[in-house]
Amino acid sequence: ATPTALMVGTGRGAQLGILIKGPEVLESTRKVDTVVLDKTGTVTTGRMRLQGVYAAETAEEHELLRFAGALEHASEHPIARAVAAGAEERVGTLPVPEAFENVPGLGVRGVVEGHQVLVGRAQLLTDAGVELPRELVAAVPAGCTAVFAAGDGKALGVLTVADAVKETSAEAVASLRALGLTPVLLTGDNRAVADSVAAEVGIDEVYAEVMPEDKVDVVRRLQAEGRRVAMVGDGVNDAAALATADLGLAMGTGTDAAIEAGDLTLVRGDLRVAADAIRLSRRTLGTIK
Ligand code: ADP
Ligand code: MG
Repeated sequence: ATPTALMVGTGRGAQLGILIKGPEVLESTRKVDTVVLDKTGTVTTGRMRLQGVYAAETAEEHELLRFAGALEHASEHPIARAVAAGAEERVGTLPVPEAFENVPGLGVRGVVEGHQVLVGRAQLLTDAGVELPRELVAAVPAGCTAVFAAGDGKALGVLTVADAVKETSAEAVASLRALGLTPVLLTGDNRAVADSVAAEVGIDEVYAEVMPEDKVDVVRRLQAEGRRVAMVGDGVNDAAALATADLGLAMGTGTDAAIEAGDLTLVRGDLRVAADAIRLSRRTLGTIK
């Protein structure tokens, strides 16, 4: 395409709510055949709410909420915000942790009122040698994200959070398919949640329970199969995959790390605009060769 056509395409993009890093980005957009979608914050709203609270037999609901809420209060993860807000609603002001550490893709670890606290996926606790009582695991309804908590090496209980699929996601996936792209869902969340979200929006190819550092490997594997991959994401944990994909689309509502790593930004965080971006580049490059 001529520089003029690319400039026009870039300007049209801005009108649609697409920020393009450089005109050359439109060239790679055209060749894409697969679009990998992050789940949390991309296909779903990322605004989760605390739903179920199940204390272990040896713990009180009040201490489960107080310890888990206190630690999650220090984290910016959407799940953490839901847990902290829900805990505060139920038990009032939460203590400030004496120590706090993020464990990417698993949860958070820290010290609250002198107690060693872990909050996150089951694996975070089991890796630390905490036994999960069977009734706690069984308490979690299918399709919910479970947040387990432990204090001083013993399970305190499990909280469930749910996140809604964006109203526009199914339409966005249908538009991407109509452009001949194969949609793929990629998430660190558990298989049951991933499959239920995928079914709701019309995606058949799902990669679940993928650690943040492994998201980029999924993109590489698809590329090694000869596929041309676009990746859409919003999180810090999506940045490497966005940079490695043939085309990285960052949600404008997401983190700075994602926006910096992407080739394009969907300013309003509307997934339907991903299809507009691909349509625009095909049109820009197709009309003037
Ligand atoms: P996604 O890939 O869907 O954006 P992440 O990679 O950020 O999700 O996290 C993967 C999983 O790790 C989450 O679905 C959640 O189960 C767990 N997790 C991560 N951080 C936290 C946290 N602060 N509190 C509870 N659970 C967490
Ligand atoms: Mg995300």
